Amino acid sequence: MTDLNIPWRAPAAVASDDVVLPFEVSALDQRGRVVRLGPMLDTILTSHDYPVPIAKVLGEAVVLTVLLGASLKFEGRFILQTKTDGPLRMLVVDYTTPGNVRAYARFDAERVAAAMAAGKVSAGEILGSGHLAMTIDQGADMNRYQGLVALSGGGLETAAHEYFFRSEQIPTRVRLAVAEQLVAGDNGPHHRWRAGGILLQFLPRRTERMRGPDLDPGDAPAGTAPHLVPEDEAWTEGRSLIETVDDIELIDPDLSSERLLYRLFHQRGVRVFATQPVQARCTCSREGVTAMLRSFPQDDRDHMVENGVISVTCEFCSSTYVFEPLDVAAPAGS
Ligand SMILES: [Zn+2]
Repeated sequence: MTDLNIPWRAPAAVASDDVVLPFEVSALDQRGRVVRLGPMLDTILTSHDYPVPIAKVLGEAVVLTVLLGASLKFEGRFILQTKTDGPLRMLVVDYTTPGNVRAYARFDAERVAAAMAAGKVSAGEILGSGHLAMTIDQGADMNRYQGLVALSGGGLETAAHEYFFRSEQIPTRVRLAVAEQLVAGDNGPHHRWRAGGILLQFLPRRTERMRGPDLDPGDAPAGTAPHLVPEDEAWTEGRSLIETVDDIELIDPDLSSERLLYRLFHQRGVRVFATQPVQARCTCSREGVTAMLRSFPQDDRDHMVENGVISVTCEFCSSTYVFEPLDVAAPAGS
């Protein structure tokens, strides 16, 4: 009899990268996901020349997006965006089922350099104040859903907790970690980006655990203390366990997700499900860019010509598409 109950395969002793591992701790009515990102994150972050603090925050945003996007039950897209007044002005992470991710950030290089010189490079300081938007788009027949949460000097973990508390009313904890790893290579040692994250949610099946706070006391005299409901003990336990997870446990290439879960929940028993792979993949294409250019007024296209050609670079993956102006002229008769 073992605590680690794996329905489909033996627990992996070796960590595998670029996968999401869903899990359940049924004794605590909790479910979650662990994600480890290696080559896919390195591809996303190194296709741009980002300063380290920008790459780290964008890496955290990719981890959070994968943790949330992996819950999409149908074909669709999950888009996470920030817009803030800090050195990192905006970032976008775009997750398309099944597991395709692309991302980019826009930043103010001078302000990033000043923040680095002053040692003010926490995620909260790099982002500043503004908002985080999360959009779920599950196709033309489904409503587009957007949730907004304020960012005010805290990082993405804090914003995610706030979002789930206010919008979804699901007690949720996430931990996100990003780091550079020094690896040996043919041309000497070099850096590679790695990241990891864990999400835990309290989803009680028994009604007595679903009690929420009472309704507002209404016409009670001003100053009446609201009726506070103590946090469920099962959630206190799960939340406390997640808060003990160190960054190194999330990024250590020698610690598998299964081992991490066992370390956390072995006393309660944890069940893992089939993993979902994720990869860095952009949806841009020469055909798509051609169609976009053809839709522009001739005057706009004329202004794009430089040295006799029109070149367009994808903001997500940095692919550059070069066209002869005549090849992207509007079709005759339009
Ligand atoms: Zn692209």
